[in-house]
Amino acid sequence: MTRILRLSVLLMCILSSAWIVSAQKTQVIAHRGYWKTEGSAQNSLKALEKADSIGCYGSEFDVWITGDGMLVVNHDAKVDSVVIEQATAGEVLALKLPNGENLPTLEQYLELGKKCTTRLILELKPHSNRLREAKAVINILLMVESMGLSDRMEYITFSADALADFIKYAPAGTPVYYLNGEKTPQELHAMGAAGLDYNQGVLKKHPEWIKEAHDLGMKVNVWTVNKEEDMRWSIEQGVDFITTNEPELLQNILK
Ligand code: MG
Repeated sequence: MTRILRLSVLLMCILSSAWIVSAQKTQVIAHRGYWKTEGSAQNSLKALEKADSIGCYGSEFDVWITGDGMLVVNHDAKVDSVVIEQATAGEVLALKLPNGENLPTLEQYLELGKKCTTRLILELKPHSNRLREAKAVINILLMVESMGLSDRMEYITFSADALADFIKYAPAGTPVYYLNGEKTPQELHAMGAAGLDYNQGVLKKHPEWIKEAHDLGMKVNVWTVNKEEDMRWSIEQGVDFITTNEPELLQNILK
């Protein structure tokens, strides 16, 4: 073997082992649960069960508080003509998801979460009323604590106020991530966040934030990554978590 050939083989081994190390580090989070499956729907109980059944690191879901104080799981602020923030629990819980389930309460979601091993990635949606948003944070934390789930939870939010409240009131060490994309890793570190959970467009514009976050001891999550080429880019950049609508595709790439 010539010297150049030996060196190229060595280089290839180093590069492929670096790829394996970075690939193993990245974890899969199912976005709104694993909903692209038979009988499932976004943010349904079935979607959480399916995400758990394929061994996702985490299953993400969205939370609102109704006008009369019930915590419920749904993505959109409004379903049909019902505005969740202004509606009663009775009105909201009568709504049907596309898979036929009734829109779930957070308590139902967490009860199922107890039987799963996947981590529960709870997104609190930004509410129009700051007071009700703060109430949602406190009620979520009290419910989670009373159900013995504190160490299974991670919190994410677009609201800087809710971010600060989760960091302040959640048990020490609970991971809390910011979604909105405008804060630097240094700013999030100063606030006490576990890291950034940003749109892939933001991280493509600021790939240096990934290393900066890691250097500060923080984690990086990227959403919502559904295409194979984008998954590979995120893995190569060394992100810790990828949130995706295609968890099985991502799992296969990581294998
Ligand atoms: Mg969400």
